[in-house]
Amino acid sequence: MIRRTLELGALVVAGAAWGVYAGSFSFTVGGALAGALLWVGLDNLRAGLVLRWLGGGEPSTPPAVSSVWAEVGERARKALLKLTRQAADSEMRLQKFLEAMQASPNGVTLLDSTWHIVWCNLTAAQHLGIDGKRDLQQIIKNLVRDPGFTAYLTAGDFSGPVEIPGRDYLQEPPQRISVQVHPYAEGRMLMLSRDVTALQQAETMRRDFVANVSHEIRTPLTVLSGFVETMQNLPLDEADRSRYLGLMAQQAQRMQTLVNDLLTLSRLEGSPVPGTSEAFDAGELLDVAMDEARALSEVLAQGAHQLVRVFGPAPMLVGSRNEWHSAVSNLLSNAVRYTPAGGQVSAGWRVLPDGGAELAVSDTGPGIAPEHLPRLTERFYRVDRSRSRETGGTGLGLAIVKHVVQRHGGQLRIESRPGKGSVFTIAVPAQRVRATDKGA
Ligand code: ADP
Repeated sequence: MIRRTLELGALVVAGAAWGVYAGSFSFTVGGALAGALLWVGLDNLRAGLVLRWLGGGEPSTPPAVSSVWAEVGERARKALLKLTRQAADSEMRLQKFLEAMQASPNGVTLLDSTWHIVWCNLTAAQHLGIDGKRDLQQIIKNLVRDPGFTAYLTAGDFSGPVEIPGRDYLQEPPQRISVQVHPYAEGRMLMLSRDVTALQQAETMRRDFVANVSHEIRTPLTVLSGFVETMQNLPLDEADRSRYLGLMAQQAQRMQTLVNDLLTLSRLEGSPVPGTSEAFDAGELLDVAMDEARALSEVLAQGAHQLVRVFGPAPMLVGSRNEWHSAVSNLLSNAVRYTPAGGQVSAGWRVLPDGGAELAVSDTGPGIAPEHLPRLTERFYRVDRSRSRETGGTGLGLAIVKHVVQRHGGQLRIESRPGKGSVFTIAVPAQRVRATDKGA
């Protein structure tokens, strides 16, 4: 301000001095006035430059003006820079927040009080079949045209979610999306969506499993209680009594086998993958399982199956011997149970050039039609239901085999054609094979 006053004073004095020099009083007054007017003009020019810059100039380069206007420009520049930095900061925080929302495994959609889409993440766009950019400001009801969803929004009770078909409703199983609206400030809505297809599938599987187990147990239980009733109500001779007791023991045995298989499966599912500290001789294990298969053949067909051990040296395997025993026994017992008397069952290990190993169990039984092959390892899936029951099958054998093989990083292959027998092959990766024994 002092400089401004000094400038004005200097110009007035200079004008007056010029008047004194000119030798007239009126020139002196006129000169002083002209000096003052010149200062006003200069000052207005500087003010104009500063105002124009404030109106839209580059914030970092204020106009090069002197006097108080330079100070005004500098202070405005600093204030502008501070505001710009704050705006950039807020923008960056908003971006980070939106990135976090994008990373959410749930769909997030922000809606205004009149159901217009304000923002949505990619997951929500996929769930609801909308375009996160193109559909902004569209009314959600116009885009998600599911009657259940429309009714949910109209009812206005958002205490729970609503389930709607997802975009991929053609996939198997059809996609299901759970959507819930959460109102927040000033009538705005946060809408969360999540894919519940797997959850529902697990729930369906659980229900099917319980229904299957109940069904499997109900049949022998009904037979058992029937015999108990008969024995209680009818006077039986010794021969009938012992025949009924034999049949009852058979049903009890059937339930016991089922419970054992269920326990085996639940142990396989609930325990950690077998470590690599235990190694065992797969050849010796196969011999044990072959002996068991011979005993089974004896019971079912008076030993009328030909059981042959084929291939060369068997490997040492790394993993759980108990689990492998279950798997190999199940394959051999299936081969014996489904192959009619007089048929042949062959089994053998071979070591592969890549260090892995393979066990093949083949039979000359009835074979399996191609449409059944992909489902054979499902729990309780049976092709020949009556043969399975007659021979004490639980429908869980191949599910157990598959589990054991997968837990050891291997693969189960099934090749079969009706009338041409079946070959079940277990491939074991090199990491689970330690060395070979002396061979068969
Ligand atoms: P199950 O206890 O009924 O034998 P599995 O899970 O072991 O149950 O086998 C599933 C179904 O696969 C069997 O019910 C049977 O129909 C079929 N199957 C399994 N092994 C053979 C085989 N070697 N030959 C023909 N069919 C087989």
